Amino acid sequence: MSDTLFTKIINRQIPAEIVYEDDLCFAIKDINPQAPVHLLLIPKKPIDMLAHAGEEDQALLGHMMLAVGKITRELKIDSAFRLAVNNGADAGQSVFHLHMHILAGRPFHWPPG
Ligand code: AMP
Repeated sequence: MSDTLFTKIINRQIPAEIVYEDDLCFAIKDINPQAPVHLLLIPKKPIDMLAHAGEEDQALLGHMMLAVGKITRELKIDSAFRLAVNNGADAGQSVFHLHMHILAGRPFHWPPG
């Protein structure tokens, strides 16, 4: 599999604002923010979409959920944020390297669009 956009970002081949990084994942500012805070939390392992994560990814996915808590506490947005994963083109996925959108800083409606 050739490198994804996000793999190129974490390898510093493409610039991005990296706001968090650990052994397993990293977070960047979205280039086209949909809220005052819009981050993408991305596993370093290039899983193309959530539906294709396997049993072997259990610890990684748990790690990422805890990273969301850590990042949102650090940014003081932990009282209100939305976490979204677009899985598949029809759900709005455009980059086929799993990522979680962390959005905050404005009201969010339900159901989502
Ligand atoms: P999705 O549509 O769920 O696959 O989300 C992909 C996200 O990546 C979109 O919100 C884009 O704005 C964002 N994006 C695309 N290219 C870049 C980039 N070079 N740096 C930061 N975010 C990007």
